[in-house]
Amino acid sequence: MLSGNEHIKRLIETMIVKGREPHSLIITGEHGQGRKTAAKYIAQALLCEKQTGRPCGKCRTCRMIADGVHPDVMTAAANENGNYPVDSIREIVSGAVIAPNEGRLKVYLIPDFDKSKITGEQVQNILLKLIEEPPDHVVIILTADSREAFLPTILSRAVSLGVTPCTKEECVSYLGTLNKYEYGDIAEAADALGGNIGLCIEYLDRGAIYSAVQNAREIARALAAGNTYGLLKILNDCDSKKGLLRQTLVLTSIIARDSALSRLGGEMIGCSAQGAKELSVRYGSTRCERIYRIISEYIARLDRNCSKTLVINSLCAELSGI
Ligand SMILES: [Zn+2]
Repeated sequence: MLSGNEHIKRLIETMIVKGREPHSLIITGEHGQGRKTAAKYIAQALLCEKQTGRPCGKCRTCRMIADGVHPDVMTAAANENGNYPVDSIREIVSGAVIAPNEGRLKVYLIPDFDKSKITGEQVQNILLKLIEEPPDHVVIILTADSREAFLPTILSRAVSLGVTPCTKEECVSYLGTLNKYEYGDIAEAADALGGNIGLCIEYLDRGAIYSAVQNAREIARALAAGNTYGLLKILNDCDSKKGLLRQTLVLTSIIARDSALSRLGGEMIGCSAQGAKELSVRYGSTRCERIYRIISEYIARLDRNCSKTLVINSLCAELSGI
């Protein structure tokens, strides 16, 4: 079920009702905001037996797509480092000419395309032919964190849709329907992570984001107390798990952003309103903004594959000199 994102639902509905279905779509948005859910929603809307423009969610086709077992809805598999093997994409292109098994369309989902950093360009060049001249029965849906993952030749031929976060209320009400979590825990997750349903579920299941939230709160506390040693210790502890350091820094930067804007009455979107307040009391808006900029710069260095140890040590040194 796709929560919120009424703009996507309405656009797809209009396209289907008017018989102007796109053959290639690009869905972008942050991790956890429902890109894959939106892709499945579109596949359901296209193939639903009721054909109203919106998936009924109840027919056999809708249920098979939801369960990931519909023979005409195929999801490409990346290898473990996120790259799509070139051969598997060639297979998609050559298999695409074959008519669908049971539906009127064949839908290919190619998720998390931004992670295919090594083969991304090559894969797009292979897909280009199919995207330029798709058979009538083919729909390709690519998802990524941003449009930057794609070549202009692909972007110019695909319909781009951005998923947007749900409101906190939509998120809480959706998580409640899963009958899996306590209301108190749901409220806590939504408070920390806003309307990002994917991240809230990861938090409730005690995945990496849960540790990242705790770390970011501790870092804000250590910074507000001028505790450089504490800061260094938390960051070094993050170093052991893949991705945890980056996620922790992203969440910390949002707290710093909140603290810089707090006196202006800006909306708090980070995982610690308390931390943001304490930082703002100790440093004032201008220095909080510097903290935000410094942390953002170090996130960029991590993305450029700088050594984690170097990032941690230099970041601590810069932050303790604020
Ligand atoms: Zn249906």
